[in-house]
Formats: sequence, C-alpha cells, structure tokens
Amino acid sequence: MPEKQVEKPFRSSIPEEKLTRARKMRKEGMSYQKIADDLGIAYSTLRYAISPGVRKRNKEWYEENKERNKESCRKWHKDHPGYSKEKSKEWRKNHPEYNKEYREENPEYSKEYYRNNKEHKKECSKEYYRKNKERIKERRKEWRKNNPEYMKKWREANPEYAKEHSKEWREDHPGYGEKWRKDNLAERNAHTAKRRALKRAATVGDLDEIKKIYRKARENPGICYICGKQIPDEFLGKGQVDHIFPASKGYPTASFNLAVVHARCNFRKGTRMPDGVDMHDRSVVERARQGCNLVLFWKLLKLILGLKTGRIGEVR
Ligand SMILES: [Zn+2]
Repeated sequence: MPEKQVEKPFRSSIPEEKLTRARKMRKEGMSYQKIADDLGIAYSTLRYAISPGVRKRNKEWYEENKERNKESCRKWHKDHPGYSKEKSKEWRKNHPEYNKEYREENPEYSKEYYRNNKEHKKECSKEYYRKNKERIKERRKEWRKNNPEYMKKWREANPEYAKEHSKEWREDHPGYGEKWRKDNLAERNAHTAKRRALKRAATVGDLDEIKKIYRKARENPGICYICGKQIPDEFLGKGQVDHIFPASKGYPTASFNLAVVHARCNFRKGTRMPDGVDMHDRSVVERARQGCNLVLFWKLLKLILGLKTGRIGEVR
C-alpha cells in the first residue's frame, strides 16, 4: 500500500481556505509548529501540504535508513505500550464504514480471524452483552412484539427452550401470575363451576350471569343470604358462592341457584338441602326452587316427548 501512495499525486486534506492562510503565515515567518497549533492541524499534515517536496524527501530518507528507522520505531512502541492499539481503536471507531467495507471485501480474512480468535471474540460478545444488557433486552422485546407469528413458530419448534424461558420470565416478574389469577378469579371460578356441572351432566345456565355472581362475591359481596349479616370487605376470601340447592345432588349451576355467602356459612351448610338449614332470607330459596323446578319440568318434558337431550344446557 505505501508504494502506491508515493505514485499518487499528493492532495492535502486541509481545506483550501485554511491552506491559503497557512501559506501566508509561513511567508510572514511563523514557525510550522505555531501555524499548526493556531489552525488546529497536525504538524506533519501542514508541513507536507505547504511543501510537497518534504514528503518526497522524507520518504527517500526513510527508504535509505529503513532498518535503522524500523529499529527505532520498534523501540518507541516498546516504550509506549498500548499507544498504537489505542490509536487504531480510535481510528476504527471514527471510520465504521471502512471496517464494514473491509470485511465485505475480505470475507476470507474475517473468517480466518474469527477462527483464530474464537475465544477472544466470545469473550468480547459476552462483555458487550453485559455492558448493554438493558438495551439489548429492550431491543429483543420490541422485536418479539413486532413478530408474534415468528415467536409462535419458535415456541412450537423449541418447546423445551420455551418452557425454560417462561420459567425465567416468571422468576424475573415475581407476583405477576398471582396478580393475574387474582384479577381473573371471578371468571375462573365461573368457568370451573361450569366445567364441574358439565362433568356431572348437570344443567348450566348463562355463563355471563354466573360470572356476575362470582364477581359480586369478590368485589361487592353484600349480605349473606344464610345468616343475614354483612360480608365484610376486608374478610379474607370475601364472599363465597353457594349452590342453594346442592350441585352434588344434581341441581343446576345457574344464576337462580347461586347466592353469595360467608365462607363459614357455606361450610356450615355443606351439601345439605336449604330446607333443613336455619336461614335469614327464605325468598332466595323460593326463587331458586322455582328455577330448579322449571329445569326439572323441562327435562321431564323432553324425556316424555323423546326429544334428544344431549348435553343439557343453556336453560335460562
Ligand atoms: Zn353468613
């Protein structure tokens, strides 16, 4: 590379206007060093720009004294360890496009370099990750958000990894799952009740209505229909939802047969029929009885008419 530069006509990187000023200053007898300092130019750059012959003479002199120069150069670098490394690092930082071009033009070299410095490269990557952890994580998160389809495929292709990953995520976000479960408790309870009722082939009413009751039990329990006392807000577990006519005896899971109660009252009642229990609000029981009777009547009618019952559901 240096040989080529000798043949190329020298063109200074100093802007023309600055160069004119420098020439004028030099004519006025100012020293090269002073001019360079004043204009903020490197000494040798200025020197070569003003008198190109110097560059040529220097080159010739260098060639003539090559061995000696090399020796002193080596000595200098030995006395200034890290200097050239720092300098080239700085230069590379300021010329990123050069590095990229170089890698593209010399793919073999890059590969070879990587092979020879595998461990070092790995260390570098790790170090980089450690230093920029938050930024990298943020970027990945953004990418995953923008590529949900890809992530879905990835999870299917790597179930083990996905499992491990969600485990890590849960560890990084303690309490999240608990919060989610809490926020969706009413819905989940309603679904559980429906699932159980279907398992027993019992009648299930409108799910939204059932959900409403479970939500009421959690958020605004009001008065317990068994003992007639207020269910306190701060009461652990708040209200519970009771099947007025017991589900265990095949009575339907539907809004008319559900009511909010104290956990302790629910426990005391157990799976007994409501008629044998001391009760504050009998009207709730009567309403439930009517609903249950209607369901029973409907079931019998279907049976008598030979209608296909299939999964009995959606009796409102
Ligand atoms: Zn009660």
